[in-house]
Amino acid sequence: MNIYLDNNATTKLSKDTLDKMIPYLTEHFGNASSQHSFGSAAAKGMNASRETISKILGVESKELFFTGSGVEGDNLAIRGVVKAYKNRGKHLITSSIEHPGVKETFADLEKEGFQVTYLPVDTNGLISISDLKNAITDETILISIMYANNEVGTIQPINEIGKIAKEHKIIFHCDAVQAVGKIPVNPKNDNIDILVFTAHKFHGPKGIGAMYIRSGVRIGKTITGGGQEGKLRPGTSNVAGMVGMAHALEQAVSSMNEHIIYESQLRDYFEAELLKSIPEIVFNAQKANRLPGTSSITFKYLEGESILLSLNYKGIAVSSGSACSSTELQPSHVLIAMGIPIEFAHGTIRFSLDFTNTKEEIDYVIITLKEIITRLREISPLWNNNMENKIK
Ligand SMILES: *Cc1c(COP(=O)(O)O)cnc(C)c1O
Repeated sequence: MNIYLDNNATTKLSKDTLDKMIPYLTEHFGNASSQHSFGSAAAKGMNASRETISKILGVESKELFFTGSGVEGDNLAIRGVVKAYKNRGKHLITSSIEHPGVKETFADLEKEGFQVTYLPVDTNGLISISDLKNAITDETILISIMYANNEVGTIQPINEIGKIAKEHKIIFHCDAVQAVGKIPVNPKNDNIDILVFTAHKFHGPKGIGAMYIRSGVRIGKTITGGGQEGKLRPGTSNVAGMVGMAHALEQAVSSMNEHIIYESQLRDYFEAELLKSIPEIVFNAQKANRLPGTSSITFKYLEGESILLSLNYKGIAVSSGSACSSTELQPSHVLIAMGIPIEFAHGTIRFSLDFTNTKEEIDYVIITLKEIITRLREISPLWNNNMENKIK
């Protein structure tokens, strides 16, 4: 058995998308900036991809810029806005549950003298609109709030945030890496000024991302070089990646509604069955409006690492906390911000399934998890202490 339940970390490139990319790695290998036929063949693929993605998002193709990844897009956006608008003020607002690509960028800017407000979240991972309103000052130049959280799946009230940002004439950057290709996203309707996303989270290739920047928003340059991507992200164009990204997004959007229904039913089945078979577990952000395939589960009195390794031994791939922080044994900042006690945060596993997973796989995971949790708890001093206290 090999079951992949880590689709929030990355997804498998679809065969169909790979087939669309291959000609741009072989015969159309030219540099899209070159003025000969090899260049124009590549440029054609690039332009068509930009066109396709813009149309899907309902934006102008001149408002769409390719990047190398989600993290790069977040950096270009945040650092670019700060560079262009710092004369207006030095206050920035974000949430306490952002991806490291955003979180660490703000930490860096704090060292440079910017003031950053980190909005708290409730037990479901939601920011509060009144907290946001209260945080705004005359000095605020940027609001950066993610669309959907990668660890627990919570979807933020993006439309309301966009309205407030617009009212106060503050730039709204949104890390929509977990949203684009999974749920409907329309940056113009939501007054998002900068939207960042990446192909490998929706079965496209790795190493290619994109950002929508509303016409009129100024972005200071953080990378200098040639004229590619409006001089914002110079470097020879990754045309095969762009073609793959556009095709993967087209595919994702064409079956999005069915996928949402399928994934949320499979996820709900998974959670309901686990609730019946394993005691002392908590489903995080279960009451929130969440991504259809994300399930964050705390197995009380256990270490997430040992659950992860036991599952891996049985051929099941999951993540403890987020992939980026799982090499350090720090509890996830997302779970801590949600008020989950440190010892329980350590016992949390993220299952991220998608339309590629089957009910048979989920049934195998349920049975295997029950065995693993029972065995680990038998040898867990924390669990045994807890049981003794209950009996007393
Ligand atoms: C995966 C992820 C990123 C990073 O995207 P990369 O293309 O891997 O750099 C950023 N934000 C969120 C919410 C993510 O889930």
